Amino acid sequence: MADLPFHDKGDFVDADRGFVAKLSPAVIKTADGRVIWDNDSYDFLQGECPDSAHPSLWRQSQLCARQGLYEVAEGIYQVRGLDLSNMTLVEGERGVLVIDPLISTECAAAALKLYRAHRGDRPVTGVVYTHSHVDHFGGVRGVTDGDVPILAPAGFMDHAVAENVYAGPAMTRRAVYMYGFALPRAPEGQIGCGLGLTTSTGTVSLLPPTLDVTRTGQEETVDGIRMVFQLTPGAEAPAEMTFLFPDHRALCLAENATHNQHNVLTLRGATVRDARAWARYLDEALALFADRADVAFASHHWPTWGRDGIVRFLGQQRDLYAYLHDQTVRLLNKGLTGAEIAEVLHLPPELEQSWHARGYYGSLSHNAKAVYQRYLGWFDGNPAHLWEHPPRESALRYVDCLGGGSAVVAFARRYIDENDLRFAAQLLNHAVFADEGNKEARDLLAEVYTRLGHGAENAAWRNFYLMGALELSEGIVPASVETSSFDLLSVLSVEQIFDSLAIRVDGPRAWHERLSIDWHLSDLGERHRTTLSNGALIHQREPADESADLTLRLTKEQLVGLVAGKGVGGVEREGDTAALQRLVAVLDRPAPDFAIVTA
Ligand SMILES: [Zn+2]
Repeated sequence: MADLPFHDKGDFVDADRGFVAKLSPAVIKTADGRVIWDNDSYDFLQGECPDSAHPSLWRQSQLCARQGLYEVAEGIYQVRGLDLSNMTLVEGERGVLVIDPLISTECAAAALKLYRAHRGDRPVTGVVYTHSHVDHFGGVRGVTDGDVPILAPAGFMDHAVAENVYAGPAMTRRAVYMYGFALPRAPEGQIGCGLGLTTSTGTVSLLPPTLDVTRTGQEETVDGIRMVFQLTPGAEAPAEMTFLFPDHRALCLAENATHNQHNVLTLRGATVRDARAWARYLDEALALFADRADVAFASHHWPTWGRDGIVRFLGQQRDLYAYLHDQTVRLLNKGLTGAEIAEVLHLPPELEQSWHARGYYGSLSHNAKAVYQRYLGWFDGNPAHLWEHPPRESALRYVDCLGGGSAVVAFARRYIDENDLRFAAQLLNHAVFADEGNKEARDLLAEVYTRLGHGAENAAWRNFYLMGALELSEGIVPASVETSSFDLLSVLSVEQIFDSLAIRVDGPRAWHERLSIDWHLSDLGERHRTTLSNGALIHQREPADESADLTLRLTKEQLVGLVAGKGVGGVEREGDTAALQRLVAVLDRPAPDFAIVTA
């Protein structure tokens, strides 16, 4: 770490280049006055790196904390630092094209206002979503009511919500840890998340695209602005694209290449991404666009200028994901497990010294485990790991073998003295899982997590450790109320709606239930059947007969309302109405505040 090139201020020069104006104060509120973004709360980052932060992460956070309107190229502007992501504005013949309108409508509106204050009151004449993650579309209603072309990669709507729909509550709970939402913003607390500072918490919206980009090489013109697209599904997101503005000689990299090592598997939980495909898309982007661009920008972090800089940046990012993938697979084929690969894998010196390859968001350690998981899954082949006791049961036995809770704490102190905080955390975790009331173990584990957090170069790791410490000391922090906006719910397909119902069936409670319901969706002209048997809710399209116990005639909006618990008002029913009540009676609810650092 001491060898990192701190003297190289190139990123600071690039992050400040083209600066036009700040938002001052950088505080954004909802209509009723709730603060949903406060960049000023991170002003402390401009000071010297304290002992409570890794210098490399501190540097990254200083860069992420810059906010305001920036000129990227003639006619291309970015608003950075007013949400997790960047909003890019490209000036056309009549108005301005907006790329990636942030997470919240309030932030997007503030970003557009800042732009207009300096570039004139141009109407929004088009929108582009680079990919299907919420920080790239959620604020869209803050910049337009629709009535403009909206471009997105093929499959955007399928993935915009679906990626988070089934495991959403667990992901939301884990995201509290990953982003450190409950931590104070302070040198000892939350100092960013590597990809940016944090996520805004305003109103999320979604307008469906009007034009799909379906192939690489596709060209489109909006408001006189020409764009040439490269489709990159399954890299950083299941639906994603990069594109060139040939007349501006500017390249938009979406989120496929940013100034950090990204996640092959995000720690809040997701399906594993394909590092191999990711590397190939970056190589393709290099071949397609590098000679035609003087600047490359992305929807996070700052741009890269000049052909040489772009070629170096994209080439190194490509090599990063290719190396990570290939070396992990090489080592797993020699019999190393994920945890073992994570210990021995090191980046080549050139990448090790490249700030943008460093693990501020993803990390070499957890990405290697993710590649292993993609190919081989959770089991490492060792029968000792096939049928282990779950954490609490294991903990009880370990603590018993080690001579009780106090003895475990004594052992842990020994490892702390030897600076083996990793093993101290393992020991103390057993002590806490065996006995939540062991205050000595709890306090010491909180201390160990805090030290691990303060030493972490990866922002997500830091946040996980510090959140763990916080919840050990203060108990579980209740999640802020999850308000799934109607925009988001209504874009689910009917099949996804029934799937999300099926995963709420409490299996054992439904073992002996048998019932079938036909759902006639009048507005869509579709018939669907759900059948409950053996605790499984099976969905079928266009059933062949009319044998269901109950038939409901309703609109999709009423179906969404019904699933959201708003009742059956206005729904036409025919047959055994008790069938619906019996189905509702076996539905379970997720537990949004489940324990993580205690049993
Ligand atoms: Zn993003």
